[in-house]
Amino acid sequence: PFATVPDLIRTHAEERPDAWALVQDGVTVSYGALNAAAERVAATLQRDGLQPGDVISICAGTSIAYVTAFLGALRAGVVAAPLAPSATPDSLAHMIADAGASHLFVDAANADALAAASDRINARWITLDDSAGGTPFGDWLAEEGARADAVAIEPEWPFNIIYSSGTTGTPKGIVQPHQLRWGHIRRGISDEYGIGPESITLLSTPLYSNTTLVPFFQTLALGGALLLMAKFDAVRYLQLAEQYRVTHTILVPVQYQRIMDVPDFDAYDLSAFQCKLCTSAPFRADLKADVLARWPGRLIDNYGMTEGGGVCSLLAHHHPDKLHTVGQPVPGHDIRLIDDDGNEVPHGEMGEIVGHSPGLMIGYHNQPEKTAEAEWHSPDGRRFIRTGDIGRFDEDGFLVIMDRKKDMIISGGFNIYPTDLEAVLRDHPAVHDCAVVGVPSEQWGETPVAFAVLERGHEAEPDALLSWANNRLGKTQRLADVRCVDALPLSAIGKVLKRELRDRYQQGMS
Ligand code: ATP
Ligand code: MG
Repeated sequence: PFATVPDLIRTHAEERPDAWALVQDGVTVSYGALNAAAERVAATLQRDGLQPGDVISICAGTSIAYVTAFLGALRAGVVAAPLAPSATPDSLAHMIADAGASHLFVDAANADALAAASDRINARWITLDDSAGGTPFGDWLAEEGARADAVAIEPEWPFNIIYSSGTTGTPKGIVQPHQLRWGHIRRGISDEYGIGPESITLLSTPLYSNTTLVPFFQTLALGGALLLMAKFDAVRYLQLAEQYRVTHTILVPVQYQRIMDVPDFDAYDLSAFQCKLCTSAPFRADLKADVLARWPGRLIDNYGMTEGGGVCSLLAHHHPDKLHTVGQPVPGHDIRLIDDDGNEVPHGEMGEIVGHSPGLMIGYHNQPEKTAEAEWHSPDGRRFIRTGDIGRFDEDGFLVIMDRKKDMIISGGFNIYPTDLEAVLRDHPAVHDCAVVGVPSEQWGETPVAFAVLERGHEAEPDALLSWANNRLGKTQRLADVRCVDALPLSAIGKVLKRELRDRYQQGMS
């Protein structure tokens, strides 16, 4: 039968009250304590008059109080909208209003940052670290031991609102149902990850991102322990992993890169690792191979999007010749490819990826037209979400991600996939990383230009890189320009911001 994550936490609290649920900065919280704390938050929200379906927002760094507030809301059937502290005060004020949050949970740093927009925020401010920017959490909470009225939560009810990372535009509020988290536990995904009561999952990505929330909820639902890291640092990460004998983790590709670049990486004892996840952005095959060779445990490249429930396909370590793919659809998920007219493309051809799963978003909050645009209905009547990504299935049914549709370049009538060009340029010994974007061209409509980050200690002239790459590229793929930069602009979750590169190029700076 259906169970919510708070229900499952209550079961762990009954069966193993002393088992660790959370660990941060040396502080541990048992399942018994976490369950009581969440119950107390739920009771307090009910005292304040919140009903199932009402919304609260959280804008804070990762902390134990954050987790408690989040879980307490879910227990009361209240929808949590965790927000990215890295967003501007204007954008945050917009998201809080859009979500319709009655309560805003902040910490000192974010209360300061948000003060600039406080006249536009109607929610009641509660400070998770008891700082002065609002009602201290401790004062707000009902008395210890307070019990919440039981709420019979339905699987289709909204669970949380995740604002999309805004990689390609303004963030959209993605409303996810309770059954999504339940589905992750039941649908083979947890078997692949192998999380259980003995697991300890190290999380260093922010809690407002679906990337983090998939293993976050899975670990709590299955009775493992979460080791929380508020701010990522590669060396600190390795120290914690060794000290706590971490078994599971999720990281984005740039974090893998930074960790593998730690000079004495091989000196750390990482032998307890069972499974590492990667998601959010393209994960280079050579970097995957390096991780597989030097870091014990399985490696899973997880392709997904928040709208689709976060998990569409998985590539596990047991396909060493498929590292350039993101694997096969997970059980219960249906992935298809469609053309611009919405027809399925023949097998082996490229198309926009559309995904169906039991945990699809309910819709974009307050944006029915955008929701309709994001949907595709198959001839057999299933509802799919359009990913905006272009991909193809290889001969064995493994999914290869080409590019985001918005990043594809149409030059002189030819489709150019930036990832193809990036792969060539990355082969140059002096190139550490690069990104290719399309810029307007009078002659071709659009033309590709590259931004390259050089390998430390290497030198190369942009013009030399340009002719080197163009000698290796097809006639219709040739780059118009290469710019060398110190670093690529990344979103808070580590995705290359191509939009920003295009703007920069057009403004003539690099
Ligand atoms: P926005 O929709 O606001 O522009 P976003 O699409 O980056 O932001 P998410 O839902 O967090 O927000 O990310 C999903 C996207 O991330 C996918 O559509 C895909 O482009 C990319 N992605 C996710 N996982 C992978 C992966 N394993 N390999 C390659 N790309 C990935
Ligand atoms: Mg998206």
